Amino acid sequence: MPKAQETLLEINLSALQHNYNHLKSRIQNEAKFLAVVKAYSYGSDPCEIALFLEKLGVDYFAVAYINEGVQLRNAGVTKPILVLHPQTVNFNILMEHYLEPSLYNVKILKEFIEFASAHNLKHYPVHLKFNTGLNRLGFSENDINIITESCMNANSIHVTSMFSHLAASEDLNEKAFSLNQIESFKRISNNVMERLGYKPMLHMCNTSGILNFPEAHFDMVRSGIGLYGFGNSEKENKNFIPIGTLKTIISQIHFLNEGDSLGYNRSFISKSPTKTATLPIGHADGIGRQYGKGKGYVIINNKPAYIIGNVCMDMIMVDITHIDCQEGDEVIVFGPQASAEQLAETAQTISYELITSISQRVKRIFIK
Ligand SMILES: *Cc1c(COP(=O)(O)O)cnc(C)c1O
Repeated sequence: MPKAQETLLEINLSALQHNYNHLKSRIQNEAKFLAVVKAYSYGSDPCEIALFLEKLGVDYFAVAYINEGVQLRNAGVTKPILVLHPQTVNFNILMEHYLEPSLYNVKILKEFIEFASAHNLKHYPVHLKFNTGLNRLGFSENDINIITESCMNANSIHVTSMFSHLAASEDLNEKAFSLNQIESFKRISNNVMERLGYKPMLHMCNTSGILNFPEAHFDMVRSGIGLYGFGNSEKENKNFIPIGTLKTIISQIHFLNEGDSLGYNRSFISKSPTKTATLPIGHADGIGRQYGKGKGYVIINNKPAYIIGNVCMDMIMVDITHIDCQEGDEVIVFGPQASAEQLAETAQTISYELITSISQRVKRIFIK
């Protein structure tokens, strides 16, 4: 592995392949695999990851917004791309790049059908999203009549899939709620299919849904492939290898005497002689202010070094009083040695927030 000489997000494609293969081995009835690569593939890099997964045989991709789909197409991704949260204003761009919209309410359904007819589209693939309890996006059961009438009368579109999203798939204390969502989805989709007269693909499970609800894999599953581990299941986490390592280096070492201050607003005052290291990573790189003042830590020579003082725009300072190290030494912010989840917890947030905040200024490198 190359030694960091600057701040880097190192992405391990072998780990990605391992995690993908593990998830594939857990899938029932040969359901297809949709890889969710929204938000720069959870903060990593959308295009490299998608192209790699396409080679591994992923069937479908999903992104949140249309411009994310355009980026994948421009990089050469050819598999179908579902856009989970399209906006009407960009339908033209969606169509030009052959992106497939999720239609989640009557307004957007009607607008898309109107758009598709006006552009003489024939059987353009669309996906209907149903709300079964998350109460975020999705048609309600009461919309079935209007959906089926609209879809049957429009040969400009074709319903490629129907789907729903579990609210608490990772939480087995909420198992009854999830099973209820699954039953609602079966009832709704059967009803719609009967009236449509054809059978779109059905899908419901995200990653923890794949692991916890094998009975709900239907025709496809949707997964972010645990790009950075899997929430709170220790048992499941053993089957996955963290994909990303955020590294940096020590730029400078300072020795503080008792009473010396450090950082803006003198937010750290040394109580005893203290050795500190300044690192080239700050809030503009994704290390939020809440990690400062002794909360978060990084790993230097296998030891935790706490972030002291306020986080700066481009730098943090850490306490290395008890660590044998030199300027230029490598620093691990998170990685297999210290998970993104652990670091996120020190700021009372979750790993998804930490990793999706790593800004584009941080160079991404790929290893195998
Ligand atoms: C983000 C998202 C997923 C992927 O969830 P993971 O738990 O990361 O696998 C699946 N489906 C929808 C609708 C999503 O928004």
